This record gives sequence, C-alpha cells and structure tokens, in this order.
Amino acid sequence: MTDKIKLGISSCLLGENVRYDGGHKLDHFLRDTLGKYVDWVPVCPEVEIGLPVPREAMRLVGKPEAPRLITVRTGRDYTDRMLRWAIKRLDEIEKEDLCGFVFKSRSPSSGMKAVKVYNESGAPSNKGTGIFAGAFIERFPHLPVEDEGRLNDPVLRENFIERIFVYQRWKEFLNLDGSIAQLITFHTKHKLLILSHSAKHYSILGRLVADAKKYKSGEIRRDYLRHLMEGLRLTATIKKNTNVLQHMMGYFKDLLTADEKQELIEIIEKYHAGIVPLIVPITLLLHYVRKFDEPYLKGQYYLTPHPAELMLRNHV
Ligand code: SF4
Repeated sequence: MTDKIKLGISSCLLGENVRYDGGHKLDHFLRDTLGKYVDWVPVCPEVEIGLPVPREAMRLVGKPEAPRLITVRTGRDYTDRMLRWAIKRLDEIEKEDLCGFVFKSRSPSSGMKAVKVYNESGAPSNKGTGIFAGAFIERFPHLPVEDEGRLNDPVLRENFIERIFVYQRWKEFLNLDGSIAQLITFHTKHKLLILSHSAKHYSILGRLVADAKKYKSGEIRRDYLRHLMEGLRLTATIKKNTNVLQHMMGYFKDLLTADEKQELIEIIEKYHAGIVPLIVPITLLLHYVRKFDEPYLKGQYYLTPHPAELMLRNHV
C-alpha cells in the first residue's frame, strides 16, 4: 500500500476548538498514532452550517427514528438547515473517496449511535443518531464508521482499523481495473481474514466469486462489497481466530517436526484460553510461512492486516 488512508473525522477530535463551549475533544490515539497512516478530512456540521463558536448547546428531541435538532435553552430547530447542508456536503465528501469516518460520540449532530433523544416530557432514550452522522451512513452504507468512544474498546478498534485497510485495498483493486480476474485475486488474499469474522460470509463471498462470470461486472462488485463489509463488521472472536489458526496449522502438517507441531498447538491453546494475545501464535505462524515459503499463506492479509506498529493484536 502506497498512499495514506483518507478518513473523515469530526473536527473536534483533532483538537479544533469548534465545540459549543469553545473547546475541543482531542483524541491522542486518532491524531498521533492512527494519524501516521491517515489523511484526515475534518467535518464540523454545526460550524459548517454557519453557527458561531461558542454557541448554544443542542440536543435531539422527538422520535428516535426521526429526531429534531433543537437548541437546549431557546428551542431553535436546526434540523432542516442541517439536512439541506448535509446533501451538498455529502456530494463533496463523495469526491474525497474516503475509506471511512470517525464520528464524535454522543453528539446530536455527529454521534453515530446511542445518542440521547428526549421525548416531549423531557425523558431521554439512548437510541438516536446525530443528524449529520445519520445522513452520512444512509448515503455511504458500506463505508466503515466508528465513534471515538467505541474505539477505546480494543476489539472494536481492531475491527474498525481492519475494515479501513480492507476498504483501501478495495479501492486499489478498483483502480487496477476491477476485473473478475483481479476480484479473484483480491478475494483469495482476504479469505482467512473474512473467515476470522464470519464463516457465513466466507461461504457467501466464495460462491459469489465462483459464479462471477454469471454477473455483470458492476453487479458483482456491488454485491461483493456489500457482503464483504457486512461480514467484516462482525467481530473476530477468540473462537473464530482459533479456528483460522488451526486451519493455517494444517498447511505445515508435513513440514514441522513433532516438537514444532506440539509447540504450535500449545501456543494456539494458550491463545484460546486467553493467556497470550493473538500476536503470539501469529508471529510463530509467520515464521513458518517465511521459512517454508508457503505460497497460499504468504499472500493472506490475515497475517498482516494492518501495520504492526499499531499493536492491535497485543491485547489478551
Ligand atoms: S461533535 Fe460534531 S458538531 Fe460538535 S463540535 Fe464536534 S465536529 Fe462539531
């Protein structure tokens, strides 16, 4: 991969003083760690619709599925203004060719899930989506999205980062020529990564690629991407990863000594028991992939789905 990944982000997470109280919500992991691999496209819906900093705070009011964006003290309704602006802004964002978006959690404009929505008697439920985030997700349903609060969870963080790197490779595939031959190559290299998220999507995608010649090329790409992103949204659990590790071990059954096999089995068992992180069996398997130059496994993104420096597989 040559280019940085282009991601949208709620501006306040990069430290811009755009919040209603004149402050920011700088997220050090996003700016300083993930930021080394990312070109950020910052978006602050409230400032971009022309509101000042500081400004009156807002909240969502009404039905969770179609809430209104209302200022807390004076009751001004900014919903229509925000939606009108969003249509134009999303047209611009489409041209940016993003690989995902990181939203500010809990914001009535930018929060992607579990945003408070107040009913007429003033009681909140946690079922809303911010007005801009909702419009974004509706327009780009397959793009990876997360909020900075959920990214503190190591499993969700790895899941999101895996998806943005897959999306970047998907765009590279489209830029190559998007042909069926290239789709088969793309799929082959992602097989074990997909399996680590969902055996069901692994079979659906396998069948799609096997039947690729029956589809028009645009249709196969559309269906493949939809199932791919649906499958990758499911988290890779210890059980699913263990299944993939055991599957990989099968490639070395005639190559390893009895001792080496036993060591590999024990390490996979320790991972399964939650004693060592995923990076431990992966490192040993990578060693054997290189030593024996195993042709199928060495092409698998499962072994190196994102830069090791992000240390995403180092947690137990
Ligand atoms: S949460 Fe969204 S609207 Fe609020 S300051 Fe951050 S970017 Fe702007």
